[in-house]
Amino acid sequence: MPADHPETVRPATKRVRSDQDHSKAETKAAEKSKEEQDPDHPDANPDKHEDDEWLKVPPFSVGKSRDGWETKWRESCWCGKTAFVYDADPLQAKYCHCEDCQRLHGAPFQHAAVFKKENTRLDSNPEWIGFLSAHGEVHPLSSTPTPLPRKISCRACGSPLMDEGRNMIMAFPPAFEWTRTHKEVKHAKPDESKGDSGKKDKIGMPEEFRASCHIFYERRCVDIKDGLTKWRGHKEESDKMGDDEI
Ligand SMILES: [Zn+2]
Ligand SMILES: [Zn+2]
Repeated sequence: MPADHPETVRPATKRVRSDQDHSKAETKAAEKSKEEQDPDHPDANPDKHEDDEWLKVPPFSVGKSRDGWETKWRESCWCGKTAFVYDADPLQAKYCHCEDCQRLHGAPFQHAAVFKKENTRLDSNPEWIGFLSAHGEVHPLSSTPTPLPRKISCRACGSPLMDEGRNMIMAFPPAFEWTRTHKEVKHAKPDESKGDSGKKDKIGMPEEFRASCHIFYERRCVDIKDGLTKWRGHKEESDKMGDDEI
């Protein structure tokens, strides 16, 4: 893997998915009551973490004013102890087929979505955040921040949640709690005005998280015939490849 390629981690196959509607109003109400009732909520008692300066800035922003903040997306680990919320859509999303992503995720490829750090904040107790250096040297998972760039995961269940850079983070769409669950797909009503069964539009992830391309496609372990652009290495810095080109 090239040294400047951001290493990433992928959520575990098993994951918690919320069936709740994440409409803005409900999410806001839920957050409000959470802050009032849960003493462990990161915003419930900012003084509790006054020595942890790193927690006060994005992508954690513990204790920061929520004026103007409207949660649009929520990402959580498998056990639910670690979560982040986002008030914007990702800037872009892509699939990476490099060997490091394959190994780190235990999956054929990784799906990552890029967000600005300022649009991200912690929505769980900080004690479960785990850090790992992203420089390539081996470190044990740390409960205190390692230098940037770094990987963030849940220390309780091990689910990876993001790779943190200086201004951006790469989060993992399969860990997001979107509303289109398999149950909804199964019971979706046909939409004749769209000329299809109605199920097609509801399967899979929201449009905002759809990847625009594949990178490091020559290192793939499975061919993906989805019509998206395949880059041999980095996006726009390598050759384009066909779906089954070696
Ligand atoms: Zn967890
Ligand atoms: Zn990769």
